[in-house]
Amino acid sequence: MEQLINKGKELLMNTYAQFPIVIEKGEGVKVYDNKGNEYLDFVAGIAVNCLGYKNDKLIAALKQQLEKLIHCSNLYWNEPAIEAAELLVEHSKLDKVFFCNSGAEAIEGSLKLARKYAKKNLGDNKNEIITMKNSFHGRTYGAVTATGQLKYQKGLDPLLPGVKYAEFNNIESLLQAIDYNTCAVLLEPIQGEGGIRPANKEYLKQVRDICDMNNLVLIFDEVQCGMGRTGEMFAYQLYDVKPDIVALAKGLGSGVPIGAVIANEEIAKGFNPGDHASTFGGNPLACTAAKVVLEEISKNDFLDNVKEQGNYLTKKLNELKDKYEFITDVRGHGLMKGMEMNIPVKDVIKKCMEKGLLLVGSGERIIRFVPPLIVKKDDIDSAIAILGSVLEGEI
Ligand SMILES: *Cc1c(COP(=O)(O)O)cnc(C)c1O
Repeated sequence: MEQLINKGKELLMNTYAQFPIVIEKGEGVKVYDNKGNEYLDFVAGIAVNCLGYKNDKLIAALKQQLEKLIHCSNLYWNEPAIEAAELLVEHSKLDKVFFCNSGAEAIEGSLKLARKYAKKNLGDNKNEIITMKNSFHGRTYGAVTATGQLKYQKGLDPLLPGVKYAEFNNIESLLQAIDYNTCAVLLEPIQGEGGIRPANKEYLKQVRDICDMNNLVLIFDEVQCGMGRTGEMFAYQLYDVKPDIVALAKGLGSGVPIGAVIANEEIAKGFNPGDHASTFGGNPLACTAAKVVLEEISKNDFLDNVKEQGNYLTKKLNELKDKYEFITDVRGHGLMKGMEMNIPVKDVIKKCMEKGLLLVGSGERIIRFVPPLIVKKDDIDSAIAILGSVLEGEI
């Protein structure tokens, strides 16, 4: 194991601070390292592996598609892309889909579409995009500019012009940021990397109204909180607020890389042939995965399980909060939960891993819980037992 990791350090750019284990395989909600150690996985590839590991339906569909066609380019139509788009349109109640390969790319596509639409229909000055402080939208230049956290931007300037930041959950701050040049507002209904911070219901409704009154395109980044994560297919369904554009990725392929931009009919007219493209976007293999994921999530009891387990997880985390003074908050929706502490979480996460539970932080003081959406009560009990024993040692 050590030898392999050293080779990795030699060959791969130094962009991640990996834990010293090599993950080899997974099944259900568990993964195994190459020494055979088992881990209960409450990270799920960072809110990606929503169907869990080694899902039979996903594997069967991908195998079948592999035998037929992996890729054909967007010079031609392919059936899996059309079928996946049909399901996305049905569930989002939006109208048109653009497929890409990642979250950052879905954000880039959304920003380009908003500007294209606004310039064409509302005037060439309409280019300014308002995003939220403490947000996260990805690492490409447009997406990292949209990200309202300096730590992701340092050393990269000059950033993309025409981006302004407002305080999240603060309507006054948004109103102050809007001016004659504003074309779009971009936000996460639940900030993921920013500490699992849900938007307030009233706030989100007001944002929608303000966008309507000012002719602004409202973009929701549901890369992390979408695809069933909150107990609804899309987080905005929890809020009963519909965006003009939604960006998806992470859970969309349950591990197969794919992203999507979904927009309403009017806004989607902003793109004409040649305006935007992606070589791999809408690739039949990736779209086969998205199709299976959408079919599975929309089955009767799938989202009920997310809600039920999400409530159970909250209950269990609150029991820990009642017990330990250093836990200051438990929040989030469905199976996207955060536990805030007034001590650094890094050590706690490391110790949990050594005891067979994978967790990920969101900022320095928040532990994030984003298990596969198929998680069961017993898994939550096991996770809480490990976490509880580690926290006991922190007193
Ligand atoms: C992860 C994430 C992104 C970026 O996705 P990548 O696939 O890593 O480019 C964008 N927005 C949110 C909310 C995310 O959680």
